[in-house]
Amino acid sequence: MRTLRTIREVRDALAPLRAVSRIGLVPTMGAFHAGHESLIAAARAECDVVVVSLFVNPTQFGQTADLESYPRNEARDAGIAAEAGVDLLFAPPVEEMYPDGFQTWIEVTELGSVLEGAFRPGHFRAVATVCCKLFNIVRPDVAYFGQKDAQQVEVVRRLIRDLDLELELRVLPTVRDEDGLALSSRNALLSPEEREQAAALARALATRDPAAARRLLNGYDVDYVEVAPFDPPVLAAAVRIGDTRLIDNVPLEGAPR
Ligand code: AMP
Repeated sequence: MRTLRTIREVRDALAPLRAVSRIGLVPTMGAFHAGHESLIAAARAECDVVVVSLFVNPTQFGQTADLESYPRNEARDAGIAAEAGVDLLFAPPVEEMYPDGFQTWIEVTELGSVLEGAFRPGHFRAVATVCCKLFNIVRPDVAYFGQKDAQQVEVVRRLIRDLDLELELRVLPTVRDEDGLALSSRNALLSPEEREQAAALARALATRDPAAARRLLNGYDVDYVEVAPFDPPVLAAAVRIGDTRLIDNVPLEGAPR
């Protein structure tokens, strides 16, 4: 596995492979867990060349404290990625992605402003912009995303359609701990007591019933529990446990995820 820091290096590495290879991209912010690993494994099984991007995108964080506390461990992540058969790890510095004078943004207007978007203004604009940049840099045949971030999937699907991007979107089921808690890099920020409280979120969503879910989350600091008309429709929720904000969802149609 090669770790690359610049856009030029990525383009040069992929240029000779493009015509003959199926290129898979897994966009991530690092602090890898089994959720990331499942996306990488799918890319490895389905593509000739696997590119993983590791970039904690500063523009998608509302508060500096959230950005600063976001778990980072590139050396550990690089080890996991190499072990999983990743070919290229693209880990650019912030200036490479946002050079001086950067001012062009992509806004998925309606989808980006509801649910998560209502609580995190500007979040999906930053997600759509960084994904579009990564798609332009890597030009993958397939990009891999997790159902865990259902609204992100919906925003990226809309972005691909609306801007006629030539790539396939693959969505993988949410990987969960034994007690149902969806794996998330932010789980590392929970104290043992908070970690126990967090399990209530998955239990509530497992009811697949918004009223029942709200009852089970009574006493919690809930941002929303809503049915969202995504593809597939989901019951989605966000709760704050201490200083950590957790999101999760369960699809309401199709195979359980
Ligand atoms: P992140 O590093 O948190 O930005 O996540 C990178 C990708 O991994 C996104 O497409 C996420 O939806 C996906 N992902 C995060 N957590 C999980 C999980 N528990 N199961 C499956 N995919 C996940």
